[in-house]
Amino acid sequence: MATAFIPSKMKAFVYSENGNPADVLKLKTDIAVPELEEDQVLVKVVAAALNPIDFKKMLGLKTTVPTVPGFDVAGVVVKLGSKVENFKEGDEVFGFIDIQKSLQDPKVSGTLAEYTAIEEKLLAPKPKDLSFAEAAGLPLAIETAYEGLERIGLSTGESILVLGGAGGVGSLVIQLAKNAFGASKVAATSSTGKLDLLKKLGADLVIDYTKENYEDLPEKFDVAYDTVRESDRALKAVKEEGRVLTIIGTPTPPAIPFSVTSNGSILEKLIPHLESGEVKPVLDPKGPFPFSQTVEALSYLQTQRATGKVVIYPI
Ligand code: NDP
Repeated sequence: MATAFIPSKMKAFVYSENGNPADVLKLKTDIAVPELEEDQVLVKVVAAALNPIDFKKMLGLKTTVPTVPGFDVAGVVVKLGSKVENFKEGDEVFGFIDIQKSLQDPKVSGTLAEYTAIEEKLLAPKPKDLSFAEAAGLPLAIETAYEGLERIGLSTGESILVLGGAGGVGSLVIQLAKNAFGASKVAATSSTGKLDLLKKLGADLVIDYTKENYEDLPEKFDVAYDTVRESDRALKAVKEEGRVLTIIGTPTPPAIPFSVTSNGSILEKLIPHLESGEVKPVLDPKGPFPFSQTVEALSYLQTQRATGKVVIYPI
């Protein structure tokens, strides 16, 4: 195929000081297209998804020089670094930017831009039947869901309680626990209006946290997966030998903390589950938000009321 024309400047969202997205995030039209390292590909971003880490970082997780935020991406490979082996120009891919690298190196440019540079090992081929918007909503959340379930050792026939079942991560934990890990029973929490979604995703027991305390249920669970900083309460909801994993904050022992690692091979491993439709992306019904409304979309995600993933498309 013909080599894509790559401009030297691109549109991108940028912040130059820490603060709320609404105050500090600006759309610029003259940002340099990122240079490639030898193991990276340049991706023409078609869709990006937002994650709480985007606004947490912007609010001051790390003081930064001008930064393009954004981790999740789905797009098309337009240029290869000198040592790239597994992708070629024109490949449709999805993945997410290395979080640790981005926290340590302010030069790492994110995905809320027309182009992004990303290591080939962090990418996988976009599943065939998913749109770019659907694919963009998966990488960070599904890897967090999957790796977290592996870390806590959920095995076939065990029961699990998912705290925050309607969120970006929780909606995938429910589906993976049920369809990839063979959980015998999946319970999940949300507010009243989202209980039907939890059932559709495969939850056997749905708990309205505005009306019920899950730790008071007579039934106890083998595992709890906490996405809402409730490890104290989760410990009371598991069996005596039960395990609790939390992905937010410092949990109360013996609950264990977990942080995702960026890794395209996990996405590849999950492709069969995605192509068979056993595990589906959940996109927030208010979106996808066009690129020009990225600030509004981030402010919405900050409310902690989003359902599934907030996606930016088209870019
Ligand atoms: P979301 O913004 O997608 O979560 C929003 C959802 O959370 C809403 O649907 C809301 O449902 C639900 N929710 C909020 N409070 C509660 C509650 N008390 N009980 C049940 N549900 C609740 O966030 P993510 O899923 O993307 O991420 C969740 C957290 O995990 C974030 O803090 C994020 O930074 C962190 N994270 C950590 C990672 C790691 O590697 N450690 C990786 C990814 C995320 P409702 O409206 O019904 O309340």
